[in-house]
Amino acid sequence: MKKRIYLDYNASAPLRPSAREAINDIYSNETGAYNASAVHSYGRDGRKHVEDARLNVAKLINADPNMVIFNSGATEGNNTVLHHFIRNFPHDVVFVSTIDHPSVRDAADIFKNVRTFPVDKNGMVDLDTLEKELKIYPVSLVSCMYASNETGAIQDVSKIARIAHGKGALFHCDATQTAGRIHVDMKESGIDFLTLSSHKIGGPQGVGALALGLCGQSPALLFGGGQEKQLRSGTENVAGIAGFGAAAKEAYEHLNHYQALQKWRDKMEEAILSISPEAIIHAKDVNRLPNTTFFSLPNANSQSLLMAFDLEGIAISNGSACSSGSVKPSQTLMAMGYDEKNASGGLRISLGWATKEEDIDAFIAAWTKIYQRISKK
Ligand code: PMP
Repeated sequence: MKKRIYLDYNASAPLRPSAREAINDIYSNETGAYNASAVHSYGRDGRKHVEDARLNVAKLINADPNMVIFNSGATEGNNTVLHHFIRNFPHDVVFVSTIDHPSVRDAADIFKNVRTFPVDKNGMVDLDTLEKELKIYPVSLVSCMYASNETGAIQDVSKIARIAHGKGALFHCDATQTAGRIHVDMKESGIDFLTLSSHKIGGPQGVGALALGLCGQSPALLFGGGQEKQLRSGTENVAGIAGFGAAAKEAYEHLNHYQALQKWRDKMEEAILSISPEAIIHAKDVNRLPNTTFFSLPNANSQSLLMAFDLEGIAISNGSACSSGSVKPSQTLMAMGYDEKNASGGLRISLGWATKEEDIDAFIAAWTKIYQRISKK
């Protein structure tokens, strides 16, 4: 059987060994996962796992541990913040970027008091336009992702925070793709709300966190038992949180390893351009995550290319598949000025903690083969 190679870390990273161990430890004890809010000794054991994880997650992003609220992932974190501001400040506008993840844009879509701000052809926020737009309206919140899940382009979030604060608004940043990949400092960047997801850094799926700054607003979406300081009701997912904490610790300690991936990413991009000179590598000239390549071939059908790679044993993505499996044009490429046809042809390759140089060589060999075949048609 052909060796399978996984190059789709921006969709979901494989579980890190330390995370697996943390989860197994909990599920293999006599009671399984504990109720971390119970007062008995089992509960106190569970609480310890949760609090240890909180310290590790806070360290990864330089947040105050007391202000890290565990939840089910980045979709929940984004919805929590957006809904809080849209609902509680109905006379103020919430601004979201045109490249934000659907869990930001769709959470905001149905409300009247939401506006978008644009990006340029490299997917970077147009800061002048943002500043001008903010002058026109009373604004409660500005939301912008830190690094794009599709292109990997990294925004100047400190500047965006300053612009938002200059207008008296707060700043929410979806750092789902950024934490554990480059240095993230919530305090230094002036971020008021920061969204995280465990499975993007090699922790389990279905766990995440929302970190709060000292801005005085405490958004909550779920009410009930009052867990997580009344901000996220529901019995804590102790094993998931412990796995998230272990992954956060390992990611923090191995940030250099992520930086080193850039060498292989650049080698891969050079090869792509040499094999297929008409390929466009998106956001190539701006500050990007070291692990991400998003490229398009004019007039290519990304879905059939994905399948061709899959037959070669290589898992990549087109960055635009929606959860139902149907393919929509990439919202990010559309926001960057591509028409619907060209926005449907992108291929995303994302490397991560277990990637080896031989995986990159296998990708290059597969692309050489696939490209030769499609060029003959
Ligand atoms: N934001 C970004 C930037 C993402 O890439 C994703 C995952 N595709 C999410 C939010 C949603 O994350 P989760 O799967 O944890 O809900």
